[in-house]
Amino acid sequence: MSQSEAPIIQFDNVNKWYASNGYHVLRDVNLSFAKGEKVVICGPSGSGKSTLIRCINALEEYQQGKLTVDGTVIGDDLKGIDKVRREVGMVFQQFNLFPHLTVLENLILSPTWVAKLPRNVAIEKAMVQLERVRIAEHANKYPLQLSGGQQQRVAIARALCLTPKIMLFDEPTSALDPEMIKEVLDVMIGLADQGMTMLCVTHEMGFAKAVADRVIFMDQGQVVEQNTPEEFFNNPQTDRSKDFLSKIL
Ligand code: ADP
Ligand code: MG
Repeated sequence: MSQSEAPIIQFDNVNKWYASNGYHVLRDVNLSFAKGEKVVICGPSGSGKSTLIRCINALEEYQQGKLTVDGTVIGDDLKGIDKVRREVGMVFQQFNLFPHLTVLENLILSPTWVAKLPRNVAIEKAMVQLERVRIAEHANKYPLQLSGGQQQRVAIARALCLTPKIMLFDEPTSALDPEMIKEVLDVMIGLADQGMTMLCVTHEMGFAKAVADRVIFMDQGQVVEQNTPEEFFNNPQTDRSKDFLSKIL
């Protein structure tokens, strides 16, 4: 990032409690992300990783501090949230495709209904994205006719149809059979190479080493450590990160 360029995402002392049980899930989070940066977020189950990234596209609210995404303060007004949601694509562990719609129909749904693109334009854009994830030949199939890896690539293509500035991935390969993980990571590596700003919750160390500029380690709602992948994996600084790595490596 050049010195003059503002971060595309900035957390200033963000705190969040879940209303249902009062659980303090994010604790004084201070983080900033540069445009084009690729960041891997890891940490034990329940440490707040999903909550952190879900705050970025306002799927979750926070109660204290300030979260700014591409110049919009999340929580200020609904119009700003609409803008942010159009700019931020999200891919989940469970692919969340609509099973009763074909692959192509899944891809053109938001572009035609939300972004109001004419159907033929949306289809053209969708086919470009399906080519990009190498799945165009399955455009007219239904999600359940595809493998998990193929479904996840469709989910990535669907997010890309809204031409996002930022892509959030929440354990995108955790639900996949081992032999399908690589095809999904390869698509993500391709996106990274094309300059996308990416935040990815994953424990895939190979992916982190190949593409991440930075690894963020969370535990109990806090950012405990951040470093380059090499330093983080080879030379973890805290007992908590050492303990975590000893369990995943
Ligand atoms: P991670 O993605 O790191 O596993 P999460 O962000 O999903 O962690 O959850 C962090 C903590 O918040 C967990 O202890 C979880 O039980 C709790 N939590 C998550 N969602 C909710 C919710 N909707 N209501 C109450 N507690 C929640
Ligand atoms: Mg999670």
